[in-house]
Amino acid sequence: MLTLANFIDGEWRAPLGGAYLPNHEPATGEVYSQVPDSDGRDVDQAVAAARRAFPGWARTPAAERSQLLLDLAQRIEANLDRFAQAECVDTGKPLRLARALDIPRAAANFRYFATAILHTESECYRTDQLALNYVLRQPRGVAGLISPWNLPLYLLTWKIAPALATGNTAVAKPSELTPVTAHLLAELCQQVGLPPGVLNVVHGLGSKVGAALVTHPTVRTLSFTGGTRTGADIARNAAPLFKKMTLELGGKNPNVVFADCTFEETLAGSVRAAFENQGEICLCGSRLFVEEAIYPRFLERLVERAKALQVGDPLDPATDQGALISAAHREKVLGYLRLAVEEGGRILCGGGAPPLLPPRCQGGYYVAPTVIADLPVNCRVNQEEIFGPVVTVTPFRTETEVIEWANSTPYGLSASLWTGDLARAHRVAEQLDAGTVWINCWLLRDLRTPFGGTKQSGVGREGGDEALRFFTEPKTVCLKYATESPR
Ligand code: NDP
Repeated sequence: MLTLANFIDGEWRAPLGGAYLPNHEPATGEVYSQVPDSDGRDVDQAVAAARRAFPGWARTPAAERSQLLLDLAQRIEANLDRFAQAECVDTGKPLRLARALDIPRAAANFRYFATAILHTESECYRTDQLALNYVLRQPRGVAGLISPWNLPLYLLTWKIAPALATGNTAVAKPSELTPVTAHLLAELCQQVGLPPGVLNVVHGLGSKVGAALVTHPTVRTLSFTGGTRTGADIARNAAPLFKKMTLELGGKNPNVVFADCTFEETLAGSVRAAFENQGEICLCGSRLFVEEAIYPRFLERLVERAKALQVGDPLDPATDQGALISAAHREKVLGYLRLAVEEGGRILCGGGAPPLLPPRCQGGYYVAPTVIADLPVNCRVNQEEIFGPVVTVTPFRTETEVIEWANSTPYGLSASLWTGDLARAHRVAEQLDAGTVWINCWLLRDLRTPFGGTKQSGVGREGGDEALRFFTEPKTVCLKYATESPR
């Protein structure tokens, strides 16, 4: 059985407490690795290593930092199969998806920020004929990077790449449910010769490792992706210490289909938005609103498509949907399905375990793709994040009505809308409360754009220049070059 270690100061270290957590393969329910159950002492060691490494790394020329990060990208790509296999076994997601989405995007994160730092600008302002003010953006020091289990390598590298590119050092804490790709990444750090301490990985529970990072006095920057409740805890603990923070949190995203959409394309996009990665993507379109004129036909075809999705062994290339992350998460999702019935919903397909699973997967954490109709817009199932393969469908009559419904949850991460009317597309996009609005598409990401949510979906933005700015501290330098004001 695979036993993981922490990666601290360029070395593999066992957790100081000597304890390990069992890591289950979601597709089978079997334990397949042991993860360090680290604590504050391991975090102290990692932060100390990162602190020692910081001055040297911050002074390293951008071109050298860039080259090391490009080497990491290249090695991830060269090890695509190994990473994808690990991601698939760790998360329960289809191998096909890990190969096509998670791992290539993780490499792209390193490529993007490795090259972005070669083209930065900084502002300069002249104050009349008296002084020049310029802005120095400097790395802050040790960054604490905490990531969830749904897109483990992609979301962790989305933080590691800009943090390191800008000259910070980091301590990363992956979700203890999905630690293996972070472990493989640490191996690559050794291979490319990343200086010891620049990136440290400490495995373990959020309540121990995560909490110790959040309150550690030396960690000045925190980048967190995860649930809204955890985000609130982190904000409460970090705010009195005045840490710079981004919080990327949950979503309950609307997917709005107007009758003048391109029907088949919209149907395919909506199925993907609802069920990709078992619905375990913060950006999933889990509330589908369909204009009345096409509602019956759209609903019928949606159910047909949902039933046709192949749920099975994530390692099988024919599988469209794999297992949920854990037994506890499956219970949470099934609890919402029971609640949906209590709230007046009609389950049109799915609603529990899929009927046929291969023998290897009998103990896995599966829920079949589920479509629910007839729920009130304001019921709990339509307001709370389920984070599973579950979509609710509601007919609407007017643009005004659907905008109000789309905006009615406490979340504001993303939204999609589908229409052939360009004027309406822009008009509605402007009125949706969301950090990202997709028109006639879903999950089309450009790494240069700001990414994040409004309302309870988060604080701050990641991506592009926003990330370069977040990981650096602006300092204004004012140089007076005239002895007195010209007037
Ligand atoms: P959690 O909030 O449970 O955990 C996220 C990470 O935080 C994990 O590494 C977790 O460790 C750690 N953590 C837990 N408690 C604390 C704490 N008190 N202090 C510091 N760290 C802590 O989220 P999940 O892993 O369950 O991920 C799913 C959630 O992530 C969903 O709500 C989803 O919407 C959101 N998400 C948001 C995205 C966005 O960009 N907005 C993108 C992807 C997901 P441990 O695993 O040990 O609990």
